[in-house]
Amino acid sequence: MKKEKKNNLEEEYQKSLNDYFEADDAVKRMEQYKIIRKYFELVKKRKELDEKETKLYKKRLRLRYANCNHILVESHTDIIYDYEGRSYHYYGCIKCGLDEAVAERDYGCNREEITMLELMKEYGVYKIEGIRTGICCDLGKAKELYADLKEKYPNLSDEEMAEKFKNSKRAKKLMNEMN
Ligand SMILES: [Zn+2]
Repeated sequence: MKKEKKNNLEEEYQKSLNDYFEADDAVKRMEQYKIIRKYFELVKKRKELDEKETKLYKKRLRLRYANCNHILVESHTDIIYDYEGRSYHYYGCIKCGLDEAVAERDYGCNREEITMLELMKEYGVYKIEGIRTGICCDLGKAKELYADLKEKYPNLSDEEMAEKFKNSKRAKKLMNEMN
């Protein structure tokens, strides 16, 4: 029984080796054609550019989060109580999109969130400090509202923008949508 197994393995190895050389020969024959060589070059280049884009995308997000003077809404509806019974809310930034709730659920729904989570883990930072608006609402819609307000009032400071946001009718409506 053992002997037979060994023979099978030897056969399999030889066959795999022959297949490899056959494929290698075929590749070398194809590479004699200029257009095929060009194709391989392009595939390689595309892979390199894809990796470069991923690196730069992450770097861009990291800079965006690091340079942001965050304006925060409560981005998560479930109120969490700590061991002393104090309630805790998850905060998200309406300017840069950084969101504690992403770390809480431990997965990202899109590329930005996946990268965000990666960065949070890399730096061990899961809590966001910034200006709290006291508004509890959907972060995506809050970001849209902030962008609209910023377009309307481009010269206001972050503190003033936080006030504008907090006092806008749309923010109150967003808050009602959450309840
Ligand atoms: Zn921010």
